[in-house]
This record gives sequence, structure tokens and C-alpha cells, in this order.
Amino acid sequence: MKAKYPTVNVLGVNFTKITNHALRTQLIADSQQHLNRFVVTANPEIVLYARHDPAYARVIQQADYITADGIGIIKGAQLLHTPLPERVTGFDTLVALLAFAAQNNKRVFLLGAKSAVLELTVAHLHAQYPHLKIVGYHDGYFDDAAQVAAEITASAPDFVFVALGFPKQEFFIAKYRSCASAIWMGVGGSFDVLAGTVKRAPLFWQKHHIEWLYRLLQEPTRIGRILSLPRYLALVLFSKYNHQKK
Ligand code: UDP
Repeated sequence: MKAKYPTVNVLGVNFTKITNHALRTQLIADSQQHLNRFVVTANPEIVLYARHDPAYARVIQQADYITADGIGIIKGAQLLHTPLPERVTGFDTLVALLAFAAQNNKRVFLLGAKSAVLELTVAHLHAQYPHLKIVGYHDGYFDDAAQVAAEITASAPDFVFVALGFPKQEFFIAKYRSCASAIWMGVGGSFDVLAGTVKRAPLFWQKHHIEWLYRLLQEPTRIGRILSLPRYLALVLFSKYNHQKK
């Protein structure tokens, strides 16, 4: 049975009104029942991308839960007077689910990132969670997606974490999720953080909602991506006033 949560529409994307705690509890319950679930953690860039790529928008619509990954989504929902409870990031959800998997003998498949980064991620996870069952992993630079999907099926995972970045990860999940009755979640650059090749912003930056700035300072080439934020906020305001006029 599909759990029903209210949603909040931000520029065409229906965000699930859910807290970190409620999402984790829900995903754990779903996993215990071996349900097939697709989680999207969406930021403003994803919302903008979905607006100009209808195929991607359709894929996002198939998700069971779409969470607000980024302060931009929280602010957008606030501006529209339909607030979302809090930021629910892919990284935090991933870490919580890994801890759950380790304690409960659940099977985890990791897909994505560069081969060396993935090896480091696996080593790091084995050290941190000696009981974690990583039943398979594959780097994110492959030609034969069907072959990767076959590996996932053969490993019978409870959780499949896909770190191909958007939009690739969502396209992959939508196409192949039926090959394992698992919780499938796109986790972007999370393996780079777990491997230690990219640093997550310290708590101070996270709390003050300037995690994006920390990331920009580490990877200045992301400037183009960050600059999409003002455009996103302008579109939210435009949609608000348009709506009010009607
Ligand atoms: N990646 C991959 N295959 C690809 C393209 C990207 O595995 O074909 C990986 C890349 O190595 C990195 C992640 O996907 O680990 C994307 O990280 P990014 O920070 O760009 O994620 P996003 O901001 O999209 O969540």
C-alpha cells in the first residue's frame, strides 16, 4: 500500500510534506515490507531542469517521495504560503539508512561515482559499519546499463543508492527499479563525501543555510549551477503573483 502524504507544488514538482524523521521511519517500514520505492531528493536545479525536460518531469512524477533538498526549496514553498517542514537531504537520508541497514542485516547496493571514489566509499563503510552487507557495487561510468541492472537483480538488495548525479540517476532508477523490490534513491555526489574526496560543509555552514557557498568555495566551477538559484526564486515569485491574480 502506498503511504499518502500531503504534497506541496513548487513550480510543477510535488514535494512530499515530510520531516527527516518521518521519511526515515516510512522508508524503514517500506523496506521491512519489501516494497519498491523511489525517492527523489530535489533541489532548485532539479526543479528548473524538470521544467524544460518533459521526460525528466515525468520520471520525477513517478517517485514515491520527493524531498526538499536545499534551502531554496524551503524558501520557495514559504514564498508560496505552502511551507514544507524542513530540509531533507539525500546525504543525511543515505547515512541514516546505511546505519539502519548495518543494524538490521539489510542488503545494500551502491551504484555511481568514479571507480577509485567508490572503492574508497566501500572501504570507509566497511570500517564504519563492520556488519554492513554491501552486496554489490558498480562505478557510475558504464556503457551497458542493462548489465548493471542485471547485477543489481542478482544481488537482491534491500536498498539501491544511485550516485550518478541528476538527471542520470533518476532516469536510471525509473527505468530499472522493477528489477529489485528495494528502496531506490538518487544520492548525487554523496559517495564523494563518504570517500572523503569532497568535504561536506561543517555544521555552522549547514545551520546558517550557506552550505551551497561552502561547496562553491571548494569547487568554483559550480558557479554556473549556483547562478540558477536567483532565476528559480524569480520564477517562484512570478508563479505566486500569477496565481494571486487569477
Ligand atoms: N557521476 C557518475 N556517472 C556519470 C556522471 C556523474 O557516476 O556519468 C557521479 C560523479 O562521479 C559524482 C556524482 O555522480 O560522484 C555527481 O555529483 P554531483 O555533486 O554533481 O551531484 P548532484 O549535485 O547532481 O547531486
